[in-house]
Amino acid sequence: MPVYARTSLAFERGEGVYLYTAENERYLDFAAGIAVNALGHCHPQTVKALKDQAAKLWHVSNLYQAKEINDLADLLCEHSFADQVFFCNSGAEAVECGIKMIRKYHHENGEPHRTRIITFEGAFHGRTIATLSAAKNEKHTEGFGPMLEGFDQVARGDVEALKAAIGPNTAGILIEPIRGEGGVDAASIDYLKALRDIADAHGLLLFLDSVQCGMGRSGKLYPHEWASVNPDILSSAKGIGNGFPLGACLATKEAAKGMKPGSHGSTYGSNPLAMQVGKVVVETVVQPQFLENVQKQSAALFEKLEMLRKAYPNIITSLHGKGLMIGVKVAPNNAEFVAKLREKKLLTVPAGQNMVRLLPPLVITEEHVDEAIAAIESVCKEMV
Ligand SMILES: *Cc1c(COP(=O)(O)O)cnc(C)c1O
Repeated sequence: MPVYARTSLAFERGEGVYLYTAENERYLDFAAGIAVNALGHCHPQTVKALKDQAAKLWHVSNLYQAKEINDLADLLCEHSFADQVFFCNSGAEAVECGIKMIRKYHHENGEPHRTRIITFEGAFHGRTIATLSAAKNEKHTEGFGPMLEGFDQVARGDVEALKAAIGPNTAGILIEPIRGEGGVDAASIDYLKALRDIADAHGLLLFLDSVQCGMGRSGKLYPHEWASVNPDILSSAKGIGNGFPLGACLATKEAAKGMKPGSHGSTYGSNPLAMQVGKVVVETVVQPQFLENVQKQSAALFEKLEMLRKAYPNIITSLHGKGLMIGVKVAPNNAEFVAKLREKKLLTVPAGQNMVRLLPPLVITEEHVDEAIAAIESVCKEMV
């Protein structure tokens, strides 16, 4: 179905932070499959993990025990707030699981009327009916109604509006700690702390959709760690499989207490191929030197982008984001800007708020930063 506006460009192979066409033309990939290829393309250990597992066992269903599932779940729990993990195949499914869990939690508590979830303007949570209903983006919902009941949307960053939206039926808060599709916006540490406090004061579950900003992209495994507050539920996907379809919904034991045998499921969820790749990704990302590199390259990118912003204030108007999830707000049309960057062999992604989104693999070095900056600078020059 023609649901994607594809460019004419096609790639044949990927290696590290570069993609190659059939004619062997090389592109610097600061899109990374939209924040997916965290370790870069064809990372040797992920290739090996996948090949080894492919020769052993592809699929057995969740009717049986599997060491690979426990290994990845243990690894995620060891390095996060979570006690339990549900594995699925995509971000939207990970969010769906969290939405269901919020409702089930209050049902289990004897308060089944508490079903409403507060969400935020400009959010993106996926393309299923529930996740579309949560985000309320008219461009995505038009013609697909009726939407699911039970989502109350408020302005992002407005603590008073959030408090005012809480009623007796409110069950939880769902937010992207760093907003992606709707325009890059990193929630401040104070705001994340306020969300935790408000959730606690009202008995709400705090659900952080970290599908895009998670898995090391913020410079921590998950961005809420910057604020030293924990969510009750977290959705993870995109980077966690480095390109192999994998999603995960992480939760505390308390938040997941309504989830029992039969409560939820997925045929392909916790597929052994995905588990093995995910294990390599998580083991790699949690290494301190890996996250240090994300922070270091982020600082270099922000510093050099700031120089460009000062040199071309009529082209680059502001910089947003955290870690290697960067939104460059531009004055010209962002899609045009992205197309011009593509001519310079730099791949980026447009985002809301007329932004050009930089989402490089997390393994970039200063050399790649300089290469990207040179391309952005030459487009700025052309567009002045
Ligand atoms: C991409 C994204 C999703 C949806 O992930 P899919 O794998 O496309 O279903 C959900 N939430 C956020 C924040 C995302 O960026």
